Amino acid sequence: MIPLVDLTAQYHSIKKEIDAAVLSTLESGHFILGPAVTKFEESIASYLGVDFGIGLASGTDALVLALRALNIGAGDEVIIPAYTFFATAGTVMSVGAKPVFVDVDPQSYQIDVSKIKDAITSKTKAIIPVHLYGHPAEMNPILEIAREHGLKVIEDNAQGFGAEYLGRKTGTFGDIGCLSFFPTKNLGAFGDAGGVVTNDSALAERLRMLRTHGWKKKYYSEEVGYNSRLDALQAAILQAKLPYADAWNDKRRELARRYTAHLAPLGVATPVERNWGRHVYHLYIIRCPRRDELQAFLKQKGIASEVYYPLPPHLSVPCRRFGYKDGDFPHAELAARETLALPLYPELTLPQQDEVIAAVRVYRQKKSTIT
Ligand SMILES: *Cc1c(COP(=O)(O)O)cnc(C)c1O
Repeated sequence: MIPLVDLTAQYHSIKKEIDAAVLSTLESGHFILGPAVTKFEESIASYLGVDFGIGLASGTDALVLALRALNIGAGDEVIIPAYTFFATAGTVMSVGAKPVFVDVDPQSYQIDVSKIKDAITSKTKAIIPVHLYGHPAEMNPILEIAREHGLKVIEDNAQGFGAEYLGRKTGTFGDIGCLSFFPTKNLGAFGDAGGVVTNDSALAERLRMLRTHGWKKKYYSEEVGYNSRLDALQAAILQAKLPYADAWNDKRRELARRYTAHLAPLGVATPVERNWGRHVYHLYIIRCPRRDELQAFLKQKGIASEVYYPLPPHLSVPCRRFGYKDGDFPHAELAARETLALPLYPELTLPQQDEVIAAVRVYRQKKSTIT
């Protein structure tokens, strides 16, 4: 069986360092915040090239706290892409605001910047571009529109760790960048973990308050906050993994190039990399009109694949009250029917990849078209 990702392979490749990091945390007696978390926050800020990093319990919490820190809530609207993981929309709703969707570019899967202005109303407070699949969103036009209309920008960089837009790391362009260290993300912990980055010291302070019950001083809540800290154990693990992040992303890019070199000549619709950025292939996505049939065929050959995502958020149950309907965002809806992620992770071996390629080739020869 070829899995979609193999988390144990990565653990075994640096087992000694991970084990040492875990053991030293256990010996340290610091489990909530403390030196391991502070050190990782500094490391992540310097890796991305920003002033402040704040460790949180998950990428979902990162979005919630970012929205809260920017005072976004009831009565406000937030512009997000119509094709993304549900958390981008769910967190907007969880703070009481309304997600306003904008369709995506059907090739890069990023928010279509030419359609953002039409979605702006007097209630719009922010835009959340999502660097979906590890491909950077087109930041300059987004920042320009935001400046023109006085909007905040929160980057959902959960899938874009290490990606670049015009030579600069994604997550560092907006007011706040949100990170997820969910185990399967490009930099993954061994459990839930996340964080935010910002260059604004006042926002950094507010985010730190929000992650611990709104405290500036212990037990003196100044607002309603959360319990959303990055575990010290996860911080120590992430610290041990961070030095490998670039090499792992390079490996993903190499494998992605190899997939494309073999699959594109077969007529398969392979991912694009726009000239404005560096794609880090959190997911390697192909498109196929008979996607479910291809997925079943691969499964029968012992090859895992996955659909990210079968339901665009505007068609989800929690969004029904806003009156969105099928047909509102055709590119997102078609992507939900046609996209398929093939196995891709830094430790995927070439013989394994060859097996995936061979299976797609056989399917392609059997069927007349999968483009
Ligand atoms: C993973 C992910 C999140 C949420 O991160 P968690 O750490 O799982 O809470 C948010 N947005 C996107 C686009 C994601 O891929």
